[in-house]
Amino acid sequence: MLPRAKTIYENCSVLDVSGNLLFRAGRKKLDWYLSRDLAREIDETTIQLTFQNKGDGRSKEPFYLQEMRNACVVCNSIDSLTMHHVVPYQYRQYMPEDIKSHSSFDLLPVCIGCHDKYEQHANALKKHLAQCFDAPFAGIGWIDRPDVGKAGKAAAALLSKNPRIPKARLRDLCSVVERVALDRTALFSDQTQRWVETCQDTAQISANETLLHELCAMEVRVAGPDFRSHGEMVIGALMRSQKLPHTCNACKELVDGGISALVVCWRRHFVEHARPAHLPDHWKHWYRSELIPIYGICVGALGVCGFFASRALKSPEVVWDKHNNPYPWLHVKQNENVKLMDPNNRFEKQWSRDRL
Ligand SMILES: [Zn+2]
Ligand SMILES: [Zn+2]
Repeated sequence: MLPRAKTIYENCSVLDVSGNLLFRAGRKKLDWYLSRDLAREIDETTIQLTFQNKGDGRSKEPFYLQEMRNACVVCNSIDSLTMHHVVPYQYRQYMPEDIKSHSSFDLLPVCIGCHDKYEQHANALKKHLAQCFDAPFAGIGWIDRPDVGKAGKAAAALLSKNPRIPKARLRDLCSVVERVALDRTALFSDQTQRWVETCQDTAQISANETLLHELCAMEVRVAGPDFRSHGEMVIGALMRSQKLPHTCNACKELVDGGISALVVCWRRHFVEHARPAHLPDHWKHWYRSELIPIYGICVGALGVCGFFASRALKSPEVVWDKHNNPYPWLHVKQNENVKLMDPNNRFEKQWSRDRL
C-alpha cells in the first residue's frame, strides 16, 4: 500500500444561508459550489451557500463538523499516511445503502507502519469469518482453464526464442498456441480477434508476437458466472440470519445482530488490536456488551460505599467544629431517630445534621 500524496482532510467549511456550519469538505467540493454560483466565498477555506438547503446536512452530527487532524490515529505520525477502512471494503461494498452512506465515519488516517501491523490481526479475523460462515477467502465459483495455462506457457517458450528448443518440441508448442487461438478467439483483444479470423495460414498464428504476449497475460483461473466473493457470502449469511452447525458462539451473536453487529465488531477489533490513542472526538468506543454488568456492579458498589461514607461523616458522634459545636450529639432530640431505619416506629422524626 502506498501513502496518500495529498492532504487527507482539507477541513474547509460549508455554511448555510444563516451562517451555521453545515459540513466539512475538501477544496474541490467548494470549487464545485462556487463554479455553479451556488455559494459565495467568505475566505480561502469557507463558503456560504446562497440557497436554502434541504435538511440539516451534518449539522446535528458533531463528528462530521469537527476539524480532522491529518495524523495517524494510532501513533500520531504525520508521515506516510493512508486511509484505513475500519470495516474492510470487501464487506462494506455489499452492505445496504444506509450503512454505506456513513462510510466516512469508518475511514481513519493511519500511517503505513501502523496499518501493516494491524492488517495481520485483521487477516486473522477474516480467516475466522471464512471458517464460521463457510465462505472461503478466495471466494467460490472459480473456473479453471488448463488449456489456456498450457498455451500461456507455450507462448512464453516461443517468445524466449531459445535456440536449444528441439524442432519437434517447437512444433508441439506452436500447435498448442494455434489450438487455443482458434478455439478461444473471444478471449483475445478485438484487434487480435480480427487478425485471427482473417488469417489464411494457421502457421502464422504462433509467429504473431502480440497474440503470444496476450496469451502469456491470460489468467488460468477466472471468476465464473456464479462466482461469489468471501465478503458477499458473509454479508449474505448475515442478511439471511443463516447459522451453520460449526458457527462459533461469537459469530452466532453476529448473525443475531445483523450487519450493524459486523460493523461494531470491526470497530471494536480495530480499537482492541491497533490501540489507537489519537482517535477523533465523537468516534464511539465500542465496549464489549458482556462487560456492561461488571460496569454496573462496580458503579453500584461505589455508590453504596459513597452513601455510607457520607452518612458516617454526618453522624452526631463526629465533631467537626470544636469551638461552635463541640458536642453535636446533644442536639439530638428525644423523638429523633439517628439510625438508618426505625422498624418499630419509636421515633417521630429522622435526625439530620443542621450545622458542622
Ligand atoms: Zn502510525
Ligand atoms: Zn466464529
